[in-house]
Parts: sequence; structure tokens; C-alpha cells
Amino acid sequence: MIEFKKFFDSKRYILGEGLMEFEKKYAAFSGAKYAIGVGNGLDALHLSLVALGIGKGDEVILPSNTFIATVLAVSYAGAIPVFVEPDIHTYNIDPQRIVEAINSKTKAIMPVHLYGQACQMDEICRIANENGLVVIEDNAQAQGANCNGKLTGSFGHLNGTSFYPGKNLGAFGDAGAITTNDSSLAEKLRVLRNYGSERKYYNEYIGYNSRLDELQASLLSVKLGRLIEWNKERNRIAELYGNLLDGSKVVIPRIAESCTSVYHLYVIRHKKRDKLQEYLKSKGIDTLIHYPIPPHLQQAYRSLGVKKGDFPIAERLADEVLSLPLFIGMTEEQVSYVCHHVNQF
Ligand SMILES: *Cc1c(COP(=O)(O)O)cnc(C)c1O
Repeated sequence: MIEFKKFFDSKRYILGEGLMEFEKKYAAFSGAKYAIGVGNGLDALHLSLVALGIGKGDEVILPSNTFIATVLAVSYAGAIPVFVEPDIHTYNIDPQRIVEAINSKTKAIMPVHLYGQACQMDEICRIANENGLVVIEDNAQAQGANCNGKLTGSFGHLNGTSFYPGKNLGAFGDAGAITTNDSSLAEKLRVLRNYGSERKYYNEYIGYNSRLDELQASLLSVKLGRLIEWNKERNRIAELYGNLLDGSKVVIPRIAESCTSVYHLYVIRHKKRDKLQEYLKSKGIDTLIHYPIPPHLQQAYRSLGVKKGDFPIAERLADEVLSLPLFIGMTEEQVSYVCHHVNQF
């Protein structure tokens, strides 16, 4: 493979040409000025909070139905996660409820573009501006989605994404990136990811070791060239699901008017979700649950003092959501086979 030979012969396996090239390409893809490659998506979010000076005693607003990594990033920074319920139809954070959660300790909003659908970013950014808050998008699941034509990963002051193998743009191992339009934050993050050192052996900050290595970056550059086409294919499969599933039997995904989805996942809802999953399994259809336990009910977050019943929408979603198979190369027959059995249940 040409890319591998180029990488191997370069003899520079960390912070070399391959990364610089990928960062340029990924920034352009996201409609942001800069991209900074880091070790994974969790680091991208954590380093973003650190770069913005968010830490001890600060409150960060995030959705109550997100993947645990969003919450962990806030904890790593020493800040307090404040959960806000999602909209029951789009599963994305509800802007109106964000307003209600803001107080004098609030420093940031971290919207998560869940399952590939862009959040209502215009409204979220307006709320942030009015209240002097920063926005950090968790764009791990929605590379290429947009809100009113503007791409996810280009709204926030800093935005984290993940190239975990299962994401829409997946590496062959762990990888992530931060996107931003702010040149000084971009500069600071390049230093933070590399021991807090701009000039070798001189340290400005207590930094980290979180770099996106050359091999992953080179492979990601190649895959990035096909991401738009792959996202289109995901949309075609989702449309077929939408046409073939019986909406009176299961709740099918709904996309907000101003937003698009890149269908990282195709998530339906059913009151007897566990039984439906079992039934589909018996027909040879593997499904997954994203996510079975909301962050506020995780053992790790006992200390927040939040209890069952405090976030009823997130809890209901955890009980009812089911992710149907959706992958590049999935045939019409496969989709209709799945739909047939979901409708039969
Ligand atoms: C995958 C994911 C992350 C974390 O990314 P990693 O690369 O696995 O660290 C963060 N937030 C969301 C919403 C994710 O789906």
C-alpha cells in the first residue's frame, strides 16, 4: 500500500507530515480553520476544556443521555457535569432546558450530536452568547452533519471528535481531533497535546501525551476522501428503513427541521425493547443498545447525588432504544429482512 510505504520510509512516526496533511484535510472537511489531531475522542474533549481554562468548581452543561466519555471529560477537567434532558423526538439536548440549567457557576455547554444528528446549534450558540458561555461540541458521532447548512465541528469555540474504528470516520485504532476557528486556541492545543512543550525540552504547561500518530493520520487521510459518499449511503439505508418500518409499531428516528443526520446509528424505540431484541436475535439479526444505563445512574457517578427518576427522558430512552444494523455495503434485501421482522414482532 502506497500510504504505508510513504509512512514507513518517512522514519518520522509521531508529529510528522502525515499528521499535518490530515489536519489540513480534516479542518477543510469540517468547515473549520484548524484541526488538531489527538490520541482519542475523550482526550479531544478533555484537552478542549483544559485549553479553555475550565476546571474546579465550574459547571458544564451536557445531555443526560450521552455516551459516558462526554461526562468523563468534564470530570477529568475537575469540573461538574450538569445534565440537561434531551428532546424526546430528536434525542438531542433541548435548548429550552439548557436555559433553565444556567447559573453563576456555568462556564460551558457541551452539545452532543447524538446518533449522527446535528443539534440545534444556532439556538445553542445564541444561548451561549447571551450568557457568556463557551460551546464545545461533542462531534464524535456526526462528522459531516449540518445545522442550517453549517457543519458540525465548526460552531463551538472548540469541538472534539473521535476516529474510534466504529465511528463514521474510523481509524485502525484509537484517534481523535479538535476543530476550531481560533488560532490561539489551536496553538495552545498543539502544545498541550505534546507535554505542554512548544520548543523541545521547554515546558509552558503541565501538558499531556495525546498525539494522533502518523500511521493513523495517513490512513485517515485516505478514508476521509470517501466520507461524504459513505454518509450518503448511510442516509440511503436510513431512508429505506423509514419507508419500510411500520411507524405505528415502533418509533422511528425524527430529524429536526433545520438539521441533518449522518446516521452514525439507526435507533428505533419500542416499549418492549428487550423482547424485540430477543426476537430479532432469533431471526439472526444482531442489534445493539446505545445506551442501556444513562450516566447519572452509573456507579461511577454515585457521588453526584442524582437518583433514579431525576432524568425521566434519559431513563425512558435507555429502556426503549434499539440500534438496528446499519453499515456500508448493507443491501436492500438485508434492510427489508430486518424491517419485515421488526414489523412482524
Ligand atoms: C466515541 C465517543 C466519544 C469518545 O471517543 P473515543 O475516541 O472513544 O475516546 C465521545 N463522545 C461520544 C458521543 C462518542 O460517541
